[in-house]
Amino acid sequence: MQQYFSEIPLQVGDEYIFTKEQAHHAQTVLKLHHERVRIVSQGKGYFADAYAQGKQFVAHILEEDPRVNELPIRLQLAMALIRREKFELVLQKATELGVSHIIPFESSRCVVHANKEKIDRWQTILLEASAQCKRNHIPTILPCQSFKQVVQQEGLMLVPYEKEAGTGQTLFEYVRTEPLAQTVTIFIGPEGGFSQEEIDQLLLHGAKPVSLGSRILRAETAAIAALAVVGGYVE
Ligand code: SAH
Repeated sequence: MQQYFSEIPLQVGDEYIFTKEQAHHAQTVLKLHHERVRIVSQGKGYFADAYAQGKQFVAHILEEDPRVNELPIRLQLAMALIRREKFELVLQKATELGVSHIIPFESSRCVVHANKEKIDRWQTILLEASAQCKRNHIPTILPCQSFKQVVQQEGLMLVPYEKEAGTGQTLFEYVRTEPLAQTVTIFIGPEGGFSQEEIDQLLLHGAKPVSLGSRILRAETAAIAALAVVGGYVE
């Protein structure tokens, strides 16, 4: 069943008018014709009947869908800027895995630098991925932060660190044996990893170093794997 987000508050009995982009997607791309869809407004899902009405495409809201497809904790991904396609892949997969906030940051080994225009494109990716996997909330992406800013997170900070590979505690072991917090932030470094000073800074701010196994993963794999472990555990 296709899902669309409404920016307007809705209730049963309402008629939701699709935006231009949504109408194009429903009518031209999917060729929907009197179909059941899920419309999400303010975190609440509704089943609706969608059809063309004159020049508009509308959905008649039928009943509430009680499912809330969100994790019970606030799972944040602090993600170093990496090459565009990889970063965008992370946004899509992190959304599917239930991330609530994405905090891009620049660290000393980043080869990609912050650039304002990307935020719109990033938001589109988050919106499309959220609709596809039927989230009730679209993850929030924050403006790119400096390393100094990003280390100041509340709750539990976990830093998958490749030097822990094979020797240190695995993330899996950590979540199984240690208490988690209501907010958990996972820090993933860029292609070249974190410098020793950055790791020291993170540990100084209370971050726990964890391993993702004995192989060195690409940054995007590390992000996806770490979110899957924590999300899978709390779900
Ligand atoms: N500096 C490394 C690669 C860094 S990988 C090198 O080239 O040798 C990029 C990021 O992925 C790291 O900052 C870390 O957050 C994460 N990562 C990759 N493999 C990992 C592993 N086995 N355990 C924990 N974290 C890992």
